[in-house]
Amino acid sequence: MTEECVFCKIVENKLPSTKVYENSDFVVIKDINPVAPIHYLVLPKRHIPSVLKIDQEFPSNALFETIKRVAQKEGFSERGFRIVINTGPDALQSVNHLHVHIIAGRKLGWPPG
Ligand code: AMP
Ligand code: ZN
Repeated sequence: MTEECVFCKIVENKLPSTKVYENSDFVVIKDINPVAPIHYLVLPKRHIPSVLKIDQEFPSNALFETIKRVAQKEGFSERGFRIVINTGPDALQSVNHLHVHIIAGRKLGWPPG
């Protein structure tokens, strides 16, 4: 959709990625620079720059359903995982296409840096 958006290109298969799961609203890919043994990104197929632009049409329930399904399918739901949505400069959001990080596979520290 947005010409220069790397995640739109991944959604449209114009850039390579490792897809873990896909449904009508979301694509789940492996993060190219993982911070844990499991590090996925949930990408809405429709371009939305950030949480701040979520509207009434956004499939919020389907987002959580997608996260749940991936955690169960990939076998880390029992042990646990973290979901993160970086938003804006203080949170170091680096790609302006909404994405949810799913991080798992090791004991995670708290609070985050
Ligand atoms: P954020 O800092 O929350 O905007 O996260 C962006 C994430 O996207 C980072 O963890 C990057 O490693 C990841 N990333 C950037 N480009 C790609 C790509 N082409 N394929 C997979 N992950 C990517
Ligand atoms: Zn996009």
